[in-house]
Amino acid sequence: MIEFCSLLPAQLKKAFKDKGLPTYRAQQLLEWVYKKGVLDYDKMTNLPQALRSELEKSMLLPALKRENVLESSDKETTKFLFKLKGGELVETVLIRSGGRRTVCISSQVGCPARCAFCASGKQGLIRNLSAAEIVEQVLQVNLYLKEKNESVSHLVFMGMGEPLENLEAVLQALKIFLSPDTLNLSSRKVTISTVGVIEGIDRLLDEGLNVNLALSLHAPNQHLRKKIIPYARKYPLDDLLKSVEEYGVQSKRDVTYEYILLAGINDSIGHAKELAHLLRGKQCCVNLIPYNPVDGLKLKRPAKDAIEEFRSALFESGVRSTRRYTKGKDIDAACGQLALKNQKRYKEQTQNIRIGS
Ligand code: SF4
Repeated sequence: MIEFCSLLPAQLKKAFKDKGLPTYRAQQLLEWVYKKGVLDYDKMTNLPQALRSELEKSMLLPALKRENVLESSDKETTKFLFKLKGGELVETVLIRSGGRRTVCISSQVGCPARCAFCASGKQGLIRNLSAAEIVEQVLQVNLYLKEKNESVSHLVFMGMGEPLENLEAVLQALKIFLSPDTLNLSSRKVTISTVGVIEGIDRLLDEGLNVNLALSLHAPNQHLRKKIIPYARKYPLDDLLKSVEEYGVQSKRDVTYEYILLAGINDSIGHAKELAHLLRGKQCCVNLIPYNPVDGLKLKRPAKDAIEEFRSALFESGVRSTRRYTKGKDIDAACGQLALKNQKRYKEQTQNIRIGS
């Protein structure tokens, strides 16, 4: 069966045409799913009964299962835990900020990058998500928002996984998100966050989608970066920065440099000055992220004063920065934490079943 959410509108229309069906029927189907949020053929009343029966047998509508929805006490963050067909769990986060409704999407189950501070990295890569599974996360959040007369306005690929290591599926999902026949999102409102996969950045540029790029930098030099991000061994900092800068220039988008502040590791004034030196003259903004502790990891968040001093040192050296405030701490909002806890529980449950049977 074809998965509806894996297809671009043009591909869906071609599939209809190949079956001898008028393409306006495909358009009606797109409107039901993406504009009206209807995920049941029986409710698509302007489609003929015979077509609905045929589609029932040949095209799978979104079926991602909401395993859990957690609302943070500050009401600004909602975390969704979705169960995939194989039983794996992925998380998707909705962040409300003013009028923005940003969805933080997962692109993989687990992650191959194994960054030292990350819950998703602890699991390693379990599997890539399909384009349909990526698109369905956003559709599901849109359905949730629809009940409140709201809709998704921004997307960030900052959930579980390294998006540029699942490039084909991510590119297909991006093209679907940007299509006027689906969510019609502007590329300015979509951000890919990467730990730095050079060939992926270059391909993203070649595709000409002009989405925003955020680089998870996390260290001002190659030596320290290798310790925090094992992928840095494969992609040296100098080469990576050239590729990222090229992306910014060609796509005419400012690049964001993400910098997670880890107490005693990368948060000294010396590190701030080195970072400013590294980025001097670049059209960019540094997003400082005080570390959100993860169970089982010994890393710590710097004290408030140290965070402010780091930020001031950057400012005095001429580098713009923003500070990301931790939202949804009470619901394990840092990437992968909730899924990791639940995945463990899921494994324990399935192991117990196997032992018992
Ligand atoms: S921080 Fe991102 S890239 Fe690094 S291990 Fe976690 S999910 Fe992967």
